[in-house]
Amino acid sequence: MERDASTPDHADIVIVGTGHGGAQAAIALRQQGHEGSILMIGRDDAPPYERPPLSKEYLAGDKGFERIMIRPEKFWADKNVDLKLGSGVSAIDWIAHTVTLSDGSKIGYRKLIWSGGGDPRRLGCPGASLKGVFYVRDKRDADAMMAALDAGARRAVVIGGGYIGLEAAAVLRKLGCEVTLVEMLDRVLARVAGEDLSRFYEEEHRRQGVDVRLSTGVEEILGEDGKVTGVKLDSGETVDCDMVVVGIGIVPAVAPLIAAGAAGSNGVDVDFCCRTTLDDIYAIGDCAAHANPYANNAVIRLESVQNAHDMANTVAKAIMGDKQPYHALPWFWSNQYDLKLQTAGLSLDYDETVLRGDPATRKFTVVYLKEGKPIAFDCVGTMKDYVQGRKMLEAGVEAVDRDLLADPEVPLKELL
Ligand code: FAD
Repeated sequence: MERDASTPDHADIVIVGTGHGGAQAAIALRQQGHEGSILMIGRDDAPPYERPPLSKEYLAGDKGFERIMIRPEKFWADKNVDLKLGSGVSAIDWIAHTVTLSDGSKIGYRKLIWSGGGDPRRLGCPGASLKGVFYVRDKRDADAMMAALDAGARRAVVIGGGYIGLEAAAVLRKLGCEVTLVEMLDRVLARVAGEDLSRFYEEEHRRQGVDVRLSTGVEEILGEDGKVTGVKLDSGETVDCDMVVVGIGIVPAVAPLIAAGAAGSNGVDVDFCCRTTLDDIYAIGDCAAHANPYANNAVIRLESVQNAHDMANTVAKAIMGDKQPYHALPWFWSNQYDLKLQTAGLSLDYDETVLRGDPATRKFTVVYLKEGKPIAFDCVGTMKDYVQGRKMLEAGVEAVDRDLLADPEVPLKELL
């Protein structure tokens, strides 16, 4: 079927960001029957690709770029989705309905979808810009790390014990590096998981040979001839290394939206169908602050493929006239060593946890409860619990018997 193509200065729908949200928005618009022109603009040089493998299989060298592309390159041309890669949007005029690119050119739109994700939070200490300090956000970051490993880097300090830091540490160990992991708080994954899961992963990383340092800050990155040689910790100790990997979170990439007048403090605010406060501008994915029904309608940002994907579908429908509130169950995964973690729901304001199974067996589930009601599941190697836990959350199950919940022999579906 013939579809409109964008012109150099206008597209019916402009999508900013070629990551998970942006790519899925274009896919979903075509699936929904949108015939108008679609232009995706992204700072990244590469066609849309998956980000999770950058700290997992891609970094480990187990998957090449072709295998992490969201769609084969040809797909976009076949669907008449225009890509403008290696190009940043620096300003938005929401009254004139135009975006300005970093080269000063302007492109008009009827609807704008912003899926800018976030930029890695940078280290603020001396030495942070030395050669050998890496972040893990896009393909270029992962490629630079892989080049350093190929060039012989073997001693790494990973700063940050969140999922990305832990996954990078696991890959670096697999590649034979000495790894020290430095976490400022008193446990890893402190912002996203309960203590059972944190202690399990700390133990696992130590067992795999990672030197895990908790309640430890970084004072300075040390270097010689512009290159990293070590990390000075706040204890005064120096850890020698030839590479530093930083995973300390992201800063939502929304500056042009906020400068244009969109409301937002942590990211950009969106309503039930992902509209910003500016006419005809939607925002999705990591940068979109929304009231989430699985967090008691607290306004939060979620950094997950699920959220980017499902928000993209919500926006595509809304643009096609089917305004349905965003109401998708949050889920997430993390691969470290041979361990597969799958999470469902949001544990943000739990008041109790129940452990199903014994972490020593490396197969167990942490159930998070709020006033006796399950609100989230962290499942390590327990696929059945994950599938059935999702069903429980979607069904909105009320208080359950804790003894039955704690018994891994009792399938969760029996508690539905
Ligand atoms: P992104 O996918 O980050 O895409 C944003 C794009 O917008 C980027 O390409 C950026 O360059 C571009 N951009 C930003 N500003 C501009 C601008 N002004 N002009 C033009 N382009 C712009 N999630 C999971 O669910 N499971 C995982 O296991 C997992 N692992 C991860 C591992 C890593 C290393 C990383 C980095 C993320 C991981 N995530 C994981 C998170 C997941 O990848 C993100 O939540 C998801 O990519 C968000 O999609 P997005 O479209 O909001 O942003």
